[in-house]
Amino acid sequence: MQSYEKLYINGQWVPSRSGESIDVVNASSEQIMGSIPAGSAEDAEAAVTAARGAFDGWAATSVEQRAQQLEALHRGLAIRSDELARTITAELGMPLKMSQRIQVGLPCAVLENTIGLLRKYPFEEPVGNSLVVREPVGVVACITPWNYPLHQIVAKIAPALAAGCTVVLKPSEVAPLNSFILAELIDQAGFPAGVFNLVSGFGPVVGEALTRHPEVDMVSFTGSTRAGKRVSELAAQTVKRVALELGGKSAAVILDDADLAAAVKGTVNACFLNSGQTCSAHTRMLVPESLYEEATRNAVEIARNFSVGDPFGGKARLGPLVSAAQRQRVCDYIQKGIDQGAQLLLGGPQAPDGLDQGYYVQPTVFGRVTPEMTIAREEIFGPVLSIMSYQDEEDAIRIANDSIYGLAGAVWSADVERAKRVARRLRTGQVDINGGRFNLLAPFGGYKQSGHGREFGKYGLEEFLEIKSIQL
Ligand code: NDP
Repeated sequence: MQSYEKLYINGQWVPSRSGESIDVVNASSEQIMGSIPAGSAEDAEAAVTAARGAFDGWAATSVEQRAQQLEALHRGLAIRSDELARTITAELGMPLKMSQRIQVGLPCAVLENTIGLLRKYPFEEPVGNSLVVREPVGVVACITPWNYPLHQIVAKIAPALAAGCTVVLKPSEVAPLNSFILAELIDQAGFPAGVFNLVSGFGPVVGEALTRHPEVDMVSFTGSTRAGKRVSELAAQTVKRVALELGGKSAAVILDDADLAAAVKGTVNACFLNSGQTCSAHTRMLVPESLYEEATRNAVEIARNFSVGDPFGGKARLGPLVSAAQRQRVCDYIQKGIDQGAQLLLGGPQAPDGLDQGYYVQPTVFGRVTPEMTIAREEIFGPVLSIMSYQDEEDAIRIANDSIYGLAGAVWSADVERAKRVARRLRTGQVDINGGRFNLLAPFGGYKQSGHGREFGKYGLEEFLEIKSIQL
């Protein structure tokens, strides 16, 4: 059992005022594997007071001091990386090898990048008779989800702390144990008291208390569009800065001259990563009508090879989904796809054979999906691919952009200039051409209802900076 009984506030481990706890469930055994405190609004208040108290001192530290402090954290993360990967695999369900590489490897790389950027970032520049200076925005509330739990935490706290902000973190109660290991590491790294605070608990309690709080200057939120809208509404009352990284319904546009086999394989991989629980998953595969049959056959073949099973077993490519609620939500979407007339080509809402325990869902492929169907419009967050056909390039762009979301997308073509032309017309924050790799120095974030603000690289650091002009 990994049970944590205390919150981390003002450099101390303290019990929650609520006296209550939240169970954490192992996604593959469905057994309780630990617990965390159910923080209260009073705990959030204490954490904000601590962060506010620490702000002036932390903001006044030199770049080098902050860089060295973050380096100490990076060393700690590396030492406990295996334990972190195992913890995340147990609470979330991602296969262990992938957890090591993605769930822990990415945040380590983000931290390292942030330290490098911090050391060379131009915090001051002359503009005519002005000195333009960039200063930390203040106390930041970071509210994070469960799908890449540590990665999403580090994507916020690393640049926030680097910028000179102080932080209160409210991690998802669904996969929170990793955040307690992180807090232990921050404590050991010797950050001044109050610079980082951890208050676990439910979103509507702790998240809303932080978002309403007049002493919080900024909320950096990743999660559902529903909760992101609520955060925006509440934050508006005190005119806080808000960064939102929300849902997506990303389209992979396969053009008629693409290497079809590579394009279909790349799309299925990008759809099923983390059992589809990825905000930037390429969940809509758009193919020309003339290639529809071949693309569909390929997709089903590839998806069939995604073995589902024990995430610690070493063989599975898909582990369970994170929770019973998530599995139910995904299975309801699959049923809706069937009911609305999409062709179920692989998978379905039943549990995979022999996997009655654990929140497993079969890799599922739908063909002949049309733009008005729910599975073409809403974020499913499970291993479900929707294949849609189009008539010509204009039609493909129209379908791809026919979404309230605008987080990511892909274009596949033998002609890179043509692919770039199409990429420029997609109303999304990211576009991968022919499987272009995820770049941790490039900005990540959404257009439309996928949110606003950017994470990673210098763009991520700048989210946490205010700009001041001093006239000389
Ligand atoms: P949520 O948006 O509810 O959770 C994300 C974070 O926000 C959690 O820490 C949550 O707390 C917190 N939160 C929830 N409500 C509020 C609120 N009113 N004020 C402040 N904070 C709040 O996502 P879910 O976990 O419910 O997932 C639901 C769906 O959201 C998924 O199926 C998926 O479609 C989408 N999603 C998208 C993500 C993305 O990366 N874009 C990530 C996760 C989910 P709590 O601990 O109580 O959950």
